[in-house]
Amino acid sequence: MIAVTENFRKIQDLLAQAVADAGRDRESVTLVAVSKTHPAAVVREAVAAGQRHFGENFVQEAMDKIREVGREDLVWHFIGRLQSNKTRQVAENFRWVHTVDRAKIARRLSKQRPYYAGDLNVCIEVNVDDEPGKGGVSPDEVAALAEEVAGLPRLALRGLMCIPAARDDFEAQREPFRRLRDLAESLAESGIMTDTLSMGMTADFVAAIHEGATIVRIGTALFGERR
Ligand SMILES: *Cc1c(COP(=O)(O)O)cnc(C)c1O
Repeated sequence: MIAVTENFRKIQDLLAQAVADAGRDRESVTLVAVSKTHPAAVVREAVAAGQRHFGENFVQEAMDKIREVGREDLVWHFIGRLQSNKTRQVAENFRWVHTVDRAKIARRLSKQRPYYAGDLNVCIEVNVDDEPGKGGVSPDEVAALAEEVAGLPRLALRGLMCIPAARDDFEAQREPFRRLRDLAESLAESGIMTDTLSMGMTADFVAAIHEGATIVRIGTALFGERR
């Protein structure tokens, strides 16, 4: 068994340090624990360590895990590539989707979100480094998609999400996160208000917090290497 409890303690310390260094409040950043490929038993251990938000990438795996863990007080975030034939399960079982990058997907989620479930929280994924083959809209398509999502019933457009290309240097890591924040600011100038920047993973979450991340998505540092 990996030292999940110990890893959570360490990451909580690093998060507290990073938000303090950035002059922010600890409450302004939510830790989403990315549990993809790790079994339900590991999620239970994380829950025992006080964790409530979990991120999953694969619909079927997530459905099984949500059923197995079975706790109403947990918040599940879908952070994987979303195909149209899987939108119903996501609309019915998750509180958040971070990876909307097409109007068609947004419209399906809107139609399929059950009335009893409350609004589905949505982030638009942005391909900030314009990497070929990577998910996300290009930065110049964000405004049009945001406007469309904001107008759909049963969806709450919360903000933007990105997975930048890997960079080693801290200052270099900050740069794509700053661009995502700028994009959210230009949305606000055109009247589309959001409150979420989902950015930062194991390798770069400190840089993301310095650029205003409100959600960091961390897997490896909490649960170890994925199989
Ligand atoms: C896997 C994954 C993460 C977690 O990455 P780590 O480097 O293991 O922290 C975060 N976000 C997304 C979208 C992922 O797919």
